[in-house]
Order: sequence, then C-alpha cells, then structure tokens
Amino acid sequence: PSTPLAKPPPKIRDKIVDVCSEYQEQRGSGKTLLNLVVVGHVDAGKSTLMGHLLYLKGNVAQRTMHKYEQESRKLGKQSFMYAWVLDDTEEERSRGVTVDVAQRVFETESKVVTLLDAPGHRDFIPNMITGAARADVAILVVDASTGAFEAGFESGGQTREHAILIRSLGVSQLTVAVNKLDTADWSEERFREVKHSLRQFLKTVGFRDADVVYIPCSGLTGENLVEPSKNQNLCAWYSGPTLLQAIDNMTVPERGVVRPVRMCVGDVYKGQGSSMCVSGRLDTGYVQASDRLLLLPQGDVLNVKNVQTDRAGAMGSAFAGDHVTLTVGGVDPSVLHIGDFLCDPAHPIPLTTRVQGRIVVFNIIVPLIKGAQVDFHYQATTEPARIRKLVSQLHKTTGQLVKSRPRALVKNTAALVELEFTRPLCLELFRDYKELGRFMLRSSGSTIAAGLITQILA
Ligand code: GDP
Repeated sequence: PSTPLAKPPPKIRDKIVDVCSEYQEQRGSGKTLLNLVVVGHVDAGKSTLMGHLLYLKGNVAQRTMHKYEQESRKLGKQSFMYAWVLDDTEEERSRGVTVDVAQRVFETESKVVTLLDAPGHRDFIPNMITGAARADVAILVVDASTGAFEAGFESGGQTREHAILIRSLGVSQLTVAVNKLDTADWSEERFREVKHSLRQFLKTVGFRDADVVYIPCSGLTGENLVEPSKNQNLCAWYSGPTLLQAIDNMTVPERGVVRPVRMCVGDVYKGQGSSMCVSGRLDTGYVQASDRLLLLPQGDVLNVKNVQTDRAGAMGSAFAGDHVTLTVGGVDPSVLHIGDFLCDPAHPIPLTTRVQGRIVVFNIIVPLIKGAQVDFHYQATTEPARIRKLVSQLHKTTGQLVKSRPRALVKNTAALVELEFTRPLCLELFRDYKELGRFMLRSSGSTIAAGLITQILA
C-alpha cells in the first residue's frame, strides 16, 4: 500500500504554480533550505572547521570570539577556540567535546543552511544519527595529516562507519573536507593520496563519483573555507571551489511542497479560549488557515485556525521544511498527543503493524535475534517493537545478499528485518517519503541500529 505520489491532491494541484512562487518568495530572496550534517573521525577537526566557517561568515560576534580566544588561551587550549563556537556549554568546553547536535544557520549565495553538528566520539553516536537522520547532504571531514587519515580510515576508525551510516540513511551528496592540509604544507600529492583512497571506498558504499567533491582546507588557519586561499603552496595547484562554494553547489532534494501534508506532532499546548496549539516540522505539503487535517492514528479531523512559522515575513501559511505552530479547533484536547501525525484527509498516511526495514547494526554487544524486543524510534515517537524475522544479512557496503535467514545479527552488519508493533503506526516507505521513512532501533537507552522502511507488510 504505497502512498499516492503521482497525483498531488486537487487543492494543491490547482495551486502548484502559485504555491511554488509564494514558497520561494517567503523563503526570502529565493534562497532554498539545506540541512547539512558534518561527520568524520574524532579529532578530524569538524567543530573547528564549522566554528571557523561560522565566524568567517559573521555569525559569531567579534566580542564573543575574542572571549573564546582569551579563555582558551588561559586553559592552554587555544587550538580549540573555534570549536567553542559550536560547543557552547561549560561542561562540553571543559571536556573538549561536542555533545549536543547544536544547530547553527548560515547562508551561502543560494541557500540557507542549517548545520546539524555531529560529534565524532563513539559514545555520542546516537546524537550523530539524530543529525544524520534529518540531513539532506553531508560534509565528511578527514584529517589529512600524516598517519591521522590512515587511522581514521582503517577499521575501527569512524570515517568508514560514518560514510556507511549516512549513505544508509539516504544521504547521497557529499563534500569531503580534506582538512588540516596545513600540516602537510599544502602538498598536492597528499591531497591526491587521500582523495584516491576515499574515492574508491565511497564508490563501494554507493556514493556516485559525480556526487562527491573534495576540498583542500584547514579549519584552523581558515584556508579555503570562505575565501579562495592566498597561500602560494595551495594556489600553485588548486583553483577549485572553497568549502562554502562547495556547500552552495550541493543540490537541495525535492522538498515535497506539492505532496500531501505530513507532519509529526512535536508538541501540544493550550491556546487561547478553547483552541489548542500543535507544533512540529512540516515534512511535506503546505498548510494554511481554514485547511482541514486528519489526526492519526485517532482519526479526528481538525480545523486549522491559524498558522505560524519562525520565518520572518511568513503570513498564514507553512511549507514543507518549516517548523510550524498550528492553532486548531474541533478537537478534544485529550485526543492530541506528541508523536501523533497530521495529514491530508484525502491522502492519509497508511497505518501499519508490520514493516520490512533495511538496517545497519551498530557496535552492539549482544547480537540481535528473532523475537528481540526493541524500541522503535521514529520522528517524535518511540514505540515498542519486536523483530519478527531476520530476513537476510546484506553486505554492508555493496548491499548484496550475504545470507538468507541469518540466526543472529552481530555488530556492524547490515540486514533486512521484519518489525512488528503492538498497535498501528503511521509509517511511510523511505522511497516515497524520505522524511518519514527513516527510523532507529534502541534498546536499554542506546541506539543499536538505524534504518529505512522498505516495505509495508500489514
Ligand atoms: P572534532 O573532534 O572533529 O570536532 O575536532 P576538533 O575541531 O575538536 O579538532 C581537534 C583538534 O585538531 C584540535 O586541537 C584542533 O585545533 C585541531 N585542528 C582542527 N582543524 C585543524 C586544522 O585544519 N589544522 C590543524 N593543524 N589542526 C587542526
């Protein structure tokens, strides 16, 4: 029961042209939105790179940067001053790691980019996934200094793991920041060496050559981040894009404005009078006042009275990708819960109790077996689920069949599994609704696998 794709709902179809131009206008200066995740081995320089980029873009006040510089010098950790732009709590600073998926927004010539920062430390993999699960495109940061690239790339290093993970979560465009090239005197040979190894590997994971761009840079010195480098050693052989231009050149996936409405309820609270407010991210479609939306799995129909977004200048309508607050009427407050879904009544989300998913299993200790009870984490909800069947084990990089009906799935494997829920859930195929087809499996508070919904079975 795949969801309707070919034919957008009539209301939307008639308005496609209007909506698309209004959409562009409301975005302000016609810029499109891009969700970017930054991944790579611990200490590859992710935080420094993005912190420095934000600073060069003017997102960080001179005063604040000065403060970071002084404080970091006092602690003898001056090399971390740019990373502090992203690690902004005391605790994170004293530990020198980024814990949260901190959100930062910056603009390129044609895009408004939301940066989902991803920490590289093993313990924090779940946060990285939260970022990756929402990403349109990714930057893979590699440390090009001698020995370090190899360490991050060898087995156990996170360069491979992260590349496989983001590809498994459906990210197909990648900018590789060949970072810390200052430590190799901007050697073209070193750049080529790193590029060569990565290129072969990324191909086997399923990244097309044409979708991967390699940028020589230094997060620490700021070389080739925003402005073309003036360093002679680099200029001698490189005249390609800066990191910022490379981000600007990535294509935004189709945003789904002209698709049926889908929104997961992220929060519910009382509005004025008898009305209720529902907030969350509008995954697909667009919503305006006086629309009627179907609440699932309950089946109530709500009247939208007012639409608010955090976009300046936006009045009364919201589009796919927006964070939105809807004031709704016609509903008993007790039926609204976080994790419910709102959708177009003419094209409801399928309710299902059994799906097939393609998963990548993380660094788990106890192998996953048939019958295992797990937490199915999906959009804003967590539901109990059972692994009903281990359908097949797949090759982690090529996706080819390794074994049918494996008895168990050990750490770092890929597989097709059947999942069963105790009540009907609103789920979509990843193929149809990228935004709604990704999930994570958790057990005893840690993330054990991430995956995509490949079939709706019942
Ligand atoms: P993360 O763990 O990937 O976020 O890495 P950090 O941004 O925390 O950087 C790790 C260390 O590498 C810090 O000491 C940085 O100062 C250093 N570093 C980061 N980028 C560069 C770079 O481009 N060149 C040099 N020489 N050092 C860098």
